[in-house]
Amino acid sequence: MTQEINSFEIVKNLIDTSVKKLNLSKSVCEILSEPQRVLTVTIPVQMDDGSVKVFTGYRSQHNNALGPYKGGIRFHHDVNLDEVKALSTWMTLKCAVANIPYGGGKGGVIVNPKTLSRGELERLSRGYIRAIAPVIGADLDIPAPDVGTNGQVMSWMMDEFARIRGYNEFGVITGKPVIVGGSLGRVEATSRGCVFVIREAARVTGLKLKGATVVVQGFGNVGSIAARLLQQEDGCRVLAVSDSTGGIYNPNGLDIAAVEEHKARTGSVKGFPGSKEISNEELLTLECDILVPAALENQITGQNAGKIKAKIVAEGANGPTTPEADRILAERKILVLPDVLANSGGVTVSYFEWVQNQYGYYWSEEEVNNRLERKMVEAFNNVYSLYSKRKDVDMRGAAYMVAIERISEGMRVRGWLGNQMYADIKREAKPA
Ligand code: NAD
Repeated sequence: MTQEINSFEIVKNLIDTSVKKLNLSKSVCEILSEPQRVLTVTIPVQMDDGSVKVFTGYRSQHNNALGPYKGGIRFHHDVNLDEVKALSTWMTLKCAVANIPYGGGKGGVIVNPKTLSRGELERLSRGYIRAIAPVIGADLDIPAPDVGTNGQVMSWMMDEFARIRGYNEFGVITGKPVIVGGSLGRVEATSRGCVFVIREAARVTGLKLKGATVVVQGFGNVGSIAARLLQQEDGCRVLAVSDSTGGIYNPNGLDIAAVEEHKARTGSVKGFPGSKEISNEELLTLECDILVPAALENQITGQNAGKIKAKIVAEGANGPTTPEADRILAERKILVLPDVLANSGGVTVSYFEWVQNQYGYYWSEEEVNNRLERKMVEAFNNVYSLYSKRKDVDMRGAAYMVAIERISEGMRVRGWLGNQMYADIKREAKPA
């Protein structure tokens, strides 16, 4: 299902449409259509059996008009250059929607991390950082975790960078364990941010969250914590969850903390006592109030969008909905909370982590969560008010417009868009 859809082409088309709707110069579109820099690296890793295996990795630096490049590192066997470029473009847009002073970047290594031993994973993580070290730094490009990487991987990467530099530069990477400069609340941040946005969406659509039914695709960092928070803090009934091995369903609701324990013990959600097995396809089309796709790209497509029964789709994952599916969901009046808004809590708390690293002064978890809530509510309302005003955009279109307006203003005042700025100076300099 995922092969034939090119996420980079999708995001470029969406940018093109928004630039036209905003009546901006076509140079905005041309600049945002390609990353500013893309690095391809090879990483030789000594395997436990003494052989050397060479891995391929990428770092895409999409745009830094509003601040240093920022974005995660994905370890996955399907990683490819176009995917990394698309993910870096989404990061530029996401940071602008969240109104944080960053541009967008993303990295990836073609590997299934589950096939590596701990030692091999550490050597690969350190090797990747050595390869991209010339183009990263706390004021230049700041990686973070994504699919297949976690706090431990970030910690090895930060340590390798410290060895290269000769001193600790904690702000070079976010998503670190708290003991080495991580932020409290970072592990839950993407999911918590998604929940704040769902609460706002429930408020404006009149959906009562207590007792509302939820289905979550993907039971990793984002999906499992979002499911737990919606159940424990909002009183939602989580009917079904899934991971790459398949899904589980219980019409009376699953005990998410117990499913987490089961997954930690057995390696998958399958076989959870009292649940019925379902396929990922069946899971997406279950009757529910809120559907949270939190796995990978292109899961909701032209083929299954017509069968989706949720009232709200909150995109925990990046790019889970294809443009064709977007059109179908919009026609069917299903409210889609787009990735660049719904999962921006992760990068927002990454920003808080970086701020704390720069100051060397650390906040309480309560302070982090309160600040996150303010940011997410503000971002939702900016996007929602544009969506409500304009009849010709869905929530994704509105989010792109909010983002592109900010990025293009940054590029304009920096002089990247030609002589428009010069014309403004002349106008301002005219005697009254
Ligand atoms: P993760 O590796 O922790 O979890 C991914 C989950 O998806 C796993 O449970 C995996 O088994 C499952 N999965 C993979 N293929 C699947 C399939 N075909 N059907 C159902 N489940 C499948 O990754 P994560 O960090 O939770 O990221 C998930 C998504 O959220 C990605 O799109 C990522 O880019 C996005 N995201 C993550 C963060 C973050 O802070 N971690 C922030 C923003 C966006």
